[in-house]
Amino acid sequence: MKAIVMMKGKPGAHAFDLPKPKLSRPDEVLVRVKEAGVDGTDYNMIKHNLQDTAEGRNEIVMGHEMVGVVEDVGRSVTSVAPGDTVVMTVRRGCGICHPCLHNQSDMCMTGLYTERGIHKLDGFFTEFVVDREQYVVKVPADLVKLAIFTEPLSIAEKGIEQIRVIQSRLPWTCEHPDHTFSSPDWGRCKTALVVGAGPLGILASALLRLAEVYTFVADIVPEDSPKVHLVKQMGANYLDARGKKPKEIVDFCCTPTGNLDIIFEASGAASTAIELISYMSRSSIYVMTGIPREELFLQVDAAQLVRQIVRYNQVVVGSVNSNRSHFEAALKDISAINSRFGGLLKEMITHRFKLRDSNRIFTVTDPQHIKTLIEVEPW
Ligand SMILES: [Zn+2]
Ligand SMILES: [Zn+2]
Repeated sequence: MKAIVMMKGKPGAHAFDLPKPKLSRPDEVLVRVKEAGVDGTDYNMIKHNLQDTAEGRNEIVMGHEMVGVVEDVGRSVTSVAPGDTVVMTVRRGCGICHPCLHNQSDMCMTGLYTERGIHKLDGFFTEFVVDREQYVVKVPADLVKLAIFTEPLSIAEKGIEQIRVIQSRLPWTCEHPDHTFSSPDWGRCKTALVVGAGPLGILASALLRLAEVYTFVADIVPEDSPKVHLVKQMGANYLDARGKKPKEIVDFCCTPTGNLDIIFEASGAASTAIELISYMSRSSIYVMTGIPREELFLQVDAAQLVRQIVRYNQVVVGSVNSNRSHFEAALKDISAINSRFGGLLKEMITHRFKLRDSNRIFTVTDPQHIKTLIEVEPW
């Protein structure tokens, strides 16, 4: 079967032939891949030559976002059956630490996990994949054509979950007792800044807007960019950060309420990410999800920074990967995003390729580009 791989000592993405995988355990599921999504991690792997192959292997199949249809199941599988549409989670736990043993490998304590398409396990830019039932999540029939957004949305779900869990330390911060972070109405009377209008920034903004958070999205693209169109479609405000200092960006976000409750970093721009800490509001939270790759050294007034974080009870938290519960939350919210913000999700897909296009997928320089989809097999 066809696949797109990265190979040791051979930069770029390459077409490759692999044997079709077979069921080898009673709890396994064989899935025919229909669509695979390309995201920032894939581009970074290509750009920085990160061929993280398994021991004894010369290549790794790329891709960690997929939707497919079950072809066959082992005899102990009960949650899915042939013909079901499914998505698969990405990380496989270390099998040692308690978070991994309790279905939270996204919080692995040993670092000995693997990740499909990223870290020592073959990914989803191929025709068939096999995995254990616990990593396979069934997609409701009405969401089949949007399910490719499950994995990226699950990353945003985890980030927002972190915000809500940590900020449950606060009582309500406005005059409404039902606006605590633990309430279903948590987003009201709150302001957020999302840094980066790439797919993750847009999906995080969609979740914030679903919760009625007053949302600003900052990026360095002009007002007529399709990304800005999507930001406005959700009722979020776009902030063109070109030539602006982080303080100006935060001041602008604070104009409506005087407070910036949430910063969601989804750009991976290390300098802005660090500088923004200095302008956090009191008792606020800042979640970082972008992963910068280049080295960057900055001079900071460390005493001022520590003083401020302590005195203002501030929280800066990192959030990576996601587990099955975030995939399930994402499937619920895909439906909500689709009915509330119209064609937002479909409009995010700006470029479509086939598995045979391995030499073209990572060369897109179109300024209109938001997200690339690989159509592995027609629906
Ligand atoms: Zn672990
Ligand atoms: Zn309120």
